[in-house]
Amino acid sequence: MPPQTGCVTRFAPSPTGLLHMGHAYAALFAARFATGAGARFLLRIEDIDTGRCRPEFETAIFEDLAWLGLSWVQPVRRQSMHFADYRAALDRLSGQGLLYPCFCTRADIQREVAAAAAAPHGPDGALYPGTCRQRGEAERAARIAAGAPYALRLNMALACTAAGPLRWQDARHGEQPAAAEQFGDLVLARKDTPASYHLACTLDDALQGVTLVTRGEDLFAATHVHRLLQALLGLPAPHYHHHKLLLDATGRKFSKRDQAPTLKALRESGKTAADLRALIGL
Ligand code: GLU
Repeated sequence: MPPQTGCVTRFAPSPTGLLHMGHAYAALFAARFATGAGARFLLRIEDIDTGRCRPEFETAIFEDLAWLGLSWVQPVRRQSMHFADYRAALDRLSGQGLLYPCFCTRADIQREVAAAAAAPHGPDGALYPGTCRQRGEAERAARIAAGAPYALRLNMALACTAAGPLRWQDARHGEQPAAAEQFGDLVLARKDTPASYHLACTLDDALQGVTLVTRGEDLFAATHVHRLLQALLGLPAPHYHHHKLLLDATGRKFSKRDQAPTLKALRESGKTAADLRALIGL
């Protein structure tokens, strides 16, 4: 696809470690589409999981991106500073009767799934078996009043019915019918994490005016959910471009977990940003 011009794109890393070549690819890819009149390349720090995010990794993100030769429009949106926005979105979904409190622990869910004769699976593994969806209002209220911790889940069947059939556009794969139901009743907020990735990302893309969401194809399925949330929350639907993932010499995707060489280490070993761009082909 020829680069579109005038797009508002973004790079949205989580400061849970140092950036590696896969991140450099994603950032350069997004910036490449932000050319022409009206174009903007934005940076968003996805630090909603405050337990795993560290300020020193955020500082390193700025350094690495500057080293790559990128500049971004200020201000940077830092998710941890916008909890009220996520709360308002949850209230709106709740007002439509689409959320319910879920008191299950991970162990409860695993036990139920293991005991079930057939446990349907989605892109993220076994679907939530629906235990807390069945509870009555009085029981929910009593548990909450007793201080039981709970997550907020989306009643997926109701949500899909409320939104009706939806479609979204991917630059590589064309028009897609939205199929969020494959995820089952997703968690949209937890006691310690005020918004899930799906909710925070969808809302922020809209609030930041992003017109083209570029990200790795490992997040392709997530876009079904994002399209649904856009419809439920009355948000505009951007275009999407899910790019191929950069693979290491063994054919595996770069990841923080696998201790992929960081941009900092590459820089310190004498590599230049031009070397890196040539290596990843952007
Ligand atoms: N914070 C997400 C990540 O690092 C970004 C996902 C997205 O671009 O939507 O994978």
